Amino acid sequence: MPATLKIALVGIGKIARDQHIPALAASPDWQLAAAVSRQGHVAGVETFSDTAAMLAACPDVSVVSLCLPPVPRYEVAAACLAAGRHVMLEKPPGATLAEVHALQAMAAARGLTLFATWHSRMAMGVAGAKAWLAGKTVTRAHITWREDVRHWHPGQDWVFEPGGMGVFDPGINALSILTEILPGPVHLTSATLEFPTNRATPIAAQLQFSGHVSADFDWRQTGKQTWDIAVETPDGALRLEQGGNKLHINGAEIAGEDSIMGEYPALYARMAALVRTGQSDVDLAPMVHVADAMTLGRRVTVADFDF
Ligand code: NAP
Repeated sequence: MPATLKIALVGIGKIARDQHIPALAASPDWQLAAAVSRQGHVAGVETFSDTAAMLAACPDVSVVSLCLPPVPRYEVAAACLAAGRHVMLEKPPGATLAEVHALQAMAAARGLTLFATWHSRMAMGVAGAKAWLAGKTVTRAHITWREDVRHWHPGQDWVFEPGGMGVFDPGINALSILTEILPGPVHLTSATLEFPTNRATPIAAQLQFSGHVSADFDWRQTGKQTWDIAVETPDGALRLEQGGNKLHINGAEIAGEDSIMGEYPALYARMAALVRTGQSDVDLAPMVHVADAMTLGRRVTVADFDF
C-alpha cells in the first residue's frame, strides 16, 4: 500500500471547506486527488460534476470521503463501494439505519473499509471522560446542546427536509459522545419534539432515557452557545463543555492529552489506519437514539422558522 493514499472528496459545502480540505492538506497520509461538486471547485484539484465520472477517470483514487447531507449520501456511497473504493461518511452516516446496514454489508462483502465518522468523539475531553467513567455507576446525566442554526447552517434548507434530522443534526454529536463515554447502554423512554409549523424536522427536542439520563436540544439559541454534558456518579461528577473539548472532574479542569489532534485530523488518521489494516468502523448507537426519538417522540408545533 502506498505511503500516501489518494482520496476524493464529494460535496464541497461548509464542512468540506471548513474541516476536510485543511485536514487533508496537513496530513502526510493523504493526497486530495479529486473532488466532486455540482457547482463548487477545489483549487488545484481536478473537480468532477458527478461521482460516476470521477470513479471512471480516477482508478488510483482508493478512498472517497462523503461530505454530502445524509439524504443523497447512500447512492453515492453505494456507487463508490461497487467501484471498489473505501468510503468515509460524514455524520449522521445516512438518512436511515437500514441504508447504513446495507452499506456495511456491501463493504464487508468486498473487503473494503467503511468508516462512519463521529467527529465529536475526537474532541479533546472525550477519551479522558470515558476513562474516568469506566467501571463507575452513573446516577444521572444531562446533555444541554443549544446553538444557533442560522449561524451554523446558514440557508441550509436540507436540515429541515425529511432526512435532514433538524436539531438532531447537532444533537447526534452529543449522543455520539454520550454513547462513547457511558460505561453501559441506555435507551430512550420518552421525547418531546418541537416542529416549526412550516418545517418537516424538529427545531428543538427534550429526551428522557433510562438511568436518569436526559437531553435538551435547541437550535434557537442566540448569543452564547452551549454544548455541555454533565454526569454524576457516587464517586463524583464530570462535566464536558465546548462540545467535548473541556473536561472537568469534581470541578477541576483536566487537560486533554498532548497527542490529541483536532477532530478532523484525528478522523483522517483513523481512516488511514482502518484502510491500512483492512478494518471498518460503523457504530450506529447515536443514530439509534435519534430514530427512537422520531418513533416515540410526542410532536408539538411551534412558531414558523425561516433563515
Ligand atoms: P452544506 O454546506 O449544505 O454542503 C453539503 C454539500 O453537499 C453541498 O454544498 C453540495 O455540494 C452537496 N450536495 C449534493 N447533493 C446535495 C443535496 N441534495 N442537498 C444539499 N447539498 C447537496 O452542508 P454541510 O454543513 O457541509 O453538511 C454536510 C454534512 O456534514 C452533514 O451531514 C452535516 O451533519 C455534517 N457536518 C456539518 C457541520 C457544520 O458545521 N456545518 C459540522 C460537522 C459535520 P456541491 O455543490 O459541491 O455538490
